[in-house]
Formats: sequence, C-alpha cells, structure tokens
Amino acid sequence: MGERKRISILGATGSVGQSTLDLIERNRTAYEIVALTAYRDVEGLAKAAIAYGAKHAAIGDAERADALASALSETGITTAAGPEAICEAAAMEADWIMAAIVGCAGLKPVMAAVEQGSTVVLANKEPLVSAGDVVLAAAKIHGATILPADSEHNAIFQCFDFERPEGIRRIVLTASGGPFLDRSIEEMRAMTPDQAVAHPNWSMGAKISVDSATLMNKGLELIEADRLFPIAADRIEIIVHRQSVVHSMVEYADGSILAQLGPPDMRTPIAHTLAWPDRMETPMPSLDFAAISRLDFEEPDPVRFPALRLARQSLDRGGAKPAILNAANEEAVAAFLDKRIGFLDIAAIVEDMLDRYDPPAPGSLDDVFAIDTETRMRTRQMMTTKAA
Ligand code: NDP
Ligand code: MG
Repeated sequence: MGERKRISILGATGSVGQSTLDLIERNRTAYEIVALTAYRDVEGLAKAAIAYGAKHAAIGDAERADALASALSETGITTAAGPEAICEAAAMEADWIMAAIVGCAGLKPVMAAVEQGSTVVLANKEPLVSAGDVVLAAAKIHGATILPADSEHNAIFQCFDFERPEGIRRIVLTASGGPFLDRSIEEMRAMTPDQAVAHPNWSMGAKISVDSATLMNKGLELIEADRLFPIAADRIEIIVHRQSVVHSMVEYADGSILAQLGPPDMRTPIAHTLAWPDRMETPMPSLDFAAISRLDFEEPDPVRFPALRLARQSLDRGGAKPAILNAANEEAVAAFLDKRIGFLDIAAIVEDMLDRYDPPAPGSLDDVFAIDTETRMRTRQMMTTKAA
C-alpha cells in the first residue's frame, strides 16, 4: 500500500464537503485528514473532525471560537476561528485540497491552498469567475494542480485533449434547466425560495440551487469554462439537457464529439479528482440506459433566463464585469433567500449593477476584492432604495 493521501476540505459541512467525506468514509485507511473548515456549523464541523480524525478544525465565524474549542476539547484536534483561520487551514500542507466554500468568500482560502502548491480541487466556482486570471497565475507560479469538480467542467476535463487544443471545435456545456424550465414568466415572478431550491435532479446548497433556477449557475459556468480550458469564448455553447445524464461535451474538428455521462451525483466527479489520474470505486450504480430511454436537448430561453446573456456579456467585456456579475448575484440571491426581493428581481438587479458600475479592470487580487466589496455595497443600497 502506498502513502496515505493527506486531505483537507474547505467547506466540509456543505453539500460538496459532505459528498467528499462520504467517499473518504468508504476507504478510510487510504486518507489522512489534515484540516476541515466550516462557517457557522460548529456541531457539524466537530462531528466530522472527530469521525474522520482530523488534525485541525477551523470555523469562519470568529464568535464561535469557544464553541468549537469546547466541542473538540480533549480530542487532540487543534481549533481556530475567523476568516484568517480558514486561510491558515487552507495553507496547511496537504496533498489534495477540496475547495467547497460557497461564493467569493472562498477566494482567499483558494489562493492560500494554491500557494501551498499541491492539488486543489475547485467546486467553488465563484473565485474563478471573479479572479480567474489571478488564481490560475498563482497556480502556475506555485506548481499547484487545479482540478475541476463542477460536474460539467469535470466532464470537459475528461474529454478535452490539452495536448492538441487546436483540434477542438467547440465545448457544449449542458444545463439541466433547473426547477422552472417549464414555468411561464408570470409564474416565475411568484416563485418562493423553497420552490427555487427544490432542484429536480441535483441536491445542492441553497445558493447554487437558486443559481440553477435562474440559470446564472450556467452563466458562471460559462465563465468558469473560459478560465479553465484553452478555447475561444465564442466556442463554448450552452444547451439545456433535462435529464442531467450528459454532463458536457467536447467536439473535435473532424465532427467527433466526446461526452462524459454519469449519474447526477457529485460523488462521481469528486471521485474522479480524488483518484486522478487513477480511478476509484464509488457506490454509484451503472446508468440504466433503457430506463433513461431518451436524451433531450433544447435551446435555453433567453427571455425567461436573462442571466445567460448577462454572463456572456460579462465574459466578452472582461475587465471588472465578471467580478461585478458574481458579487451582485451573490447579494441578490441572499436577498431572495431572505424574501426581500422576488425571483425575477435577481437577474434584473445584476443587470442594473453591470450597467451602472464600470470600474477599471482589476490588476491584482486587492483590486478584485475592492470591486467585489464595492459591488456588494452598491447592490445592497440599490435593493433598499427599491424596497423603500
Ligand atoms: P453549501 O452551502 O452546501 O456549503 C458551503 C460550505 O461553505 C459550508 O461548509 C459552509 O459552512 C461554508 N461556508 C459558507 N460561507 C462561508 C464563509 N463565509 N467562510 C467560510 N466558509 C463558508 O454549498 P455547496 O456545497 O452546494 O457548494 C459549494 C461550492 O461548490 C459553491 O461554490 C457551488 O457553486 C459549488 N458547486 C456545488 C455543487 C453541488 O452539488 N452542491 C455542484 C457544483 C459546484 P457552514 O455549513 O458552517 O455554513
Ligand atoms: Mg455544475
């Protein structure tokens, strides 16, 4: 048996974090858990840290420092709290780090993980959208390997010939279409957070579930794909595929199309990154093609799902636009989940922010954070003025 793989999970209490732990659970002796992190869920974090014998646990909310320390007292597991503690946990030496924090809150931790120079698995897509250039440049400098866990990007990664990208004609990103695919615009206007997070195929955290309902998730993924794969942006296309069986496709110059198929369960793409370049067993059953019986594809409706256009425009314009798109969306989604705005307001608010705020292109990580902070402030202000 080889050396145990040293693993850290940033966002261990979330949907992706738990799927990752589930895979580790099945072959415990192969892994050693270095650090686990969460934001507020002390109980979930402590439970996982004990169950998996983590060396260290960090909680993002500084006010929960004592709660975490007492939950892990006499276990020998070291603890820390606050945003800096998350970055310190990310910087601990490990062979494989899962970045599964939600939103741009994960950007600094992702950078810390990348600077540590091992394999960093990105489920957390928002840092790539807002600061793709900076993250990827740091990976090059520090010799880190970035592997995509997002199911579509993991699919593309498995099909993409990085040695001969000139032979690639296009990437086809598939979208499930989310829970409101067949709803009229009037019906969408009245949708509640509960309805928006009830995804037909995937079980995910609240933020990405809302993003799937607006299709902003696919918009963010378009930008994510542009960052990860050496291909022109206009060669990345989006198609709705309700069954979520084909996770994305790569078309070659000769007309051949390679697709990755699998169950709609994050454990498959995560397992791909966990074992890469080898393969590992997972509990997922083989696809039953007769039961699936058909694969449907359709164009996304640009009228009901304006988020796709906003993301495409942000990518084409470049500069600060992707960071503004992401930050305004994070704030609008939080407001929607909090029932302060309606479902259709999310994209409308993002569009307003993209039109009104036009700072110079960011040249550094600090610039990205400044744009992110300013966008959030302006978005919150705009939402309060509108609500008044
Ligand atoms: P969840 O909301 O389920 O989990 C988020 C995790 O991040 C939790 O552990 C949470 O801790 C922690 N966290 C939240 N905010 C902060 C913060 N400010 N500082 C530190 N930690 C924080 O999200 P998901 O697992 O669904 O998604 C994680 C990322 O992966 C997202 O970027 C998403 O877009 C992406 N992704 C998710 C997929 C899925 O199937 N869920 C599929 C593809 C991509 P706590 O529990 O304490 O709040
Ligand atoms: Mg995805």
